[in-house]
Amino acid sequence: MQEESYWIEKANHVPVFSSVLPASADTVVVGGGIAGLSTAYHLLQAGRSVVVLERAGVGQGATGHSTGMLTGEVGSDYVELYRRRGLGFVRRVFDALTYGGDLLRDTVLKEKIDCDWQSVRALAFGTTIESVRSARDEFEMLRTLHVPVEWLNGEKVTDRFAFLRLRAGLLSAGHAVVDPYQLALGLARSVVANGGTLVEEVAYEGYHCEGDVMVVRTSQGTLTARCLFLCSDNDAGAWLSGRVPLVSVTETVAVTEPVDIVPGWTQGELLWNEFPLFEYARRLPDRRIMFGSGRSSKLSHTSHVPMDRSLMRRVFEETFTIPYPRIDYLWRGSFGVTDDELPYAGEVEPGVYLAGGYNGHGLILGFLSGELLARMATGQPHPYVDLFGIPHTDGRFGKWLYRYTPSCVRHMATQAYLDHLHARDIRARRRP
Ligand SMILES: Cc1cc2nc3c(=O)[nH]c(=O)nc-3n(C[C@H](O)[C@H](O)[C@H](O)COP(=O)(O)OP(=O)(O)OC[C@H]3O[C@@H](n4cnc5c(N)ncnc54)[C@H](O)[C@@H]3O)c2cc1C
Repeated sequence: MQEESYWIEKANHVPVFSSVLPASADTVVVGGGIAGLSTAYHLLQAGRSVVVLERAGVGQGATGHSTGMLTGEVGSDYVELYRRRGLGFVRRVFDALTYGGDLLRDTVLKEKIDCDWQSVRALAFGTTIESVRSARDEFEMLRTLHVPVEWLNGEKVTDRFAFLRLRAGLLSAGHAVVDPYQLALGLARSVVANGGTLVEEVAYEGYHCEGDVMVVRTSQGTLTARCLFLCSDNDAGAWLSGRVPLVSVTETVAVTEPVDIVPGWTQGELLWNEFPLFEYARRLPDRRIMFGSGRSSKLSHTSHVPMDRSLMRRVFEETFTIPYPRIDYLWRGSFGVTDDELPYAGEVEPGVYLAGGYNGHGLILGFLSGELLARMATGQPHPYVDLFGIPHTDGRFGKWLYRYTPSCVRHMATQAYLDHLHARDIRARRRP
């Protein structure tokens, strides 16, 4: 069994980008994931020159460790958002996700990025009375938003999805799946083809200003810049001394051996179990099943979380009726969670921009944030600037924390985490 992302393991002909740091740049983008690459791509489109710094390899952060599902609807918890912010707000969030998905699809087509893009349907289902109720609420909400959705229950659903232990579910179209690592590599190639510089294995370490000049410190020395973009879902809070209320959550994903007989499950089609937390699965082109679960979430950066194999088995057996297949790939990845489940994207200090906190929907939202930041930095309007502005703190810390943790523990965990980041930042600043 490989303890690495299926996408990264199976990739051939991975391009090698530069490892030489230039002395200066108009704009420096930190992070070679979907958000940083999108920011760089859109800045280049707006005529700016760009250097991207990536501490490891392009696409090998959260992006290449994700499950590659592009979905703005299911699981976004519109019902919860509706209760807190009203219908007008929910509609705008929904529109933003649709806009982001279309923008990404158009870019993939325009740049001829070969990332196995496939439009699919999704089934959000319930295995318990409580989860059916939750799926039903989601269904009513989506109907209110005029999204074409179908409610399935009784024999209709048990026959069609005999491989699942489900009671009822809602089927919706308009989703897509990709190979997220190839998506990142394709975007990186486009950045370079459009005149950008991409430097791998160089870590950003901080910045300071000398007069009007911004000095960016890295593991390979310094470079000067006019603008700095900090783009990492997982690290955004840490980079700004915990000022942005964002915590890091780690999840485990498994990929089975190729499974031949799963009647009724169309290749690519997404499955989304609404409860407990959520579980998700998709079929891969080589007949494997990829699945993950919110139950494996831990409030931590990747390196501190062990992979729980028995939990993954339990998740599979509680979801599927088919025998547990061999697991060929198992890995962890981390993403940022914000207190109201909306991302941050905006200017945090003059000339310094930040994006992160996509709450598990970073492929669309990270890409959208890139366009948004590039427009902000070049003085152009963007329709969703207000939605993801900094700060927005009206909520509770993401569904991962607030649903299953008593509020006092949640508050302490969040506070302790932010304090830890703050202390770490102070220590780093004291270092000569
Ligand atoms: C298990 C899992 C499953 C997921 N499934 C989905 C899904 O199906 N659909 C979806 O939309 N989203 C999904 N997500 C979320 C999504 O992957 C992320 O939100 C998104 O990839 C974040 O993109 P990013 O560019 O901000 O971060 P990243 O892809 O992590 O990119 C940030 C980059 O910054 C680099 N970096 C960090 N610090 C430094 C530094 N100091 N100097 C230089 N470089 C640095 C990192 O090496 C990294 O490559 C999933 C996430 C996980 C972990």
